[in-house]
Amino acid sequence: GRKFFVGGNWKCNGTGEEVKKIVSMLNEAEVHSEDVVEVVVSPPYVFLPLVKSLLRPDFHVAAQNCWVNKGGAFTGEVSAEMLVNLGIPWVILGHSERRLLLNESNEFVGDKIAYALSRGLKVIACVGETLEQRESGSTMAVVAAQTKAIADRVSNWANIVLAYEPVWAIGTGKVATPAQAQEVHCELRKWLQENAGAEVAATTRIIYGGSVNGANCKELAAQPDLDGFLVGGASLKVVIFRSLPSYS
Ligand code: 13P
Repeated sequence: GRKFFVGGNWKCNGTGEEVKKIVSMLNEAEVHSEDVVEVVVSPPYVFLPLVKSLLRPDFHVAAQNCWVNKGGAFTGEVSAEMLVNLGIPWVILGHSERRLLLNESNEFVGDKIAYALSRGLKVIACVGETLEQRESGSTMAVVAAQTKAIADRVSNWANIVLAYEPVWAIGTGKVATPAQAQEVHCELRKWLQENAGAEVAATTRIIYGGSVNGANCKELAAQPDLDGFLVGGASLKVVIFRSLPSYS
């Protein structure tokens, strides 16, 4: 089976004091065993060592981005090698905020994912359509093209979690309905089956992100092709971890 995965993406939020508070709430949170749910939190780069040092050992940390290749004269960037050197196991790549605000193309994201994997990082790879794309009926074409840019560069999917995050649902309070999420997750799994093989399709976790909170997570989690969440705003509050459905 696919182990349920809950990621908390803190985005560009928090002071040192706030980060310590969130971590101590997380450390006290009643979460079912690591055997049934994998919990990964993603603070901004500057807090990674702090969070890693304070976080309970059954939870893990992710960076929110990394550079596309090895380090060098790339002012402002952080390389995959640096994350590995710090003992950071995970990285989020292809988040829509970077695709849209920083013009990261499918190909660039695919290159980053391939490079990060080659350095031994595990990757939360994000895909998702805008409202305009959904309304014009191109949701599946958009997420398939984003996923293809990964599949073209990567053959081993063991260290990838695919996050479906419809842009219209991110930070808007307009969560996808369970049926809307299930439909795309199911299509993505079919896409993987046809393009990366049955084994990859059966084992790759496809998680949902976009206005997930303690009130709506249960019904979403019950969808057969939904294997977890990537939570933004609500992950700064921790209640999400308390209200997760029971998988024990
Ligand atoms: P929100 O949960 O704040 O909508 O953000 C989702 C997200 O972008 C997670 O990566």
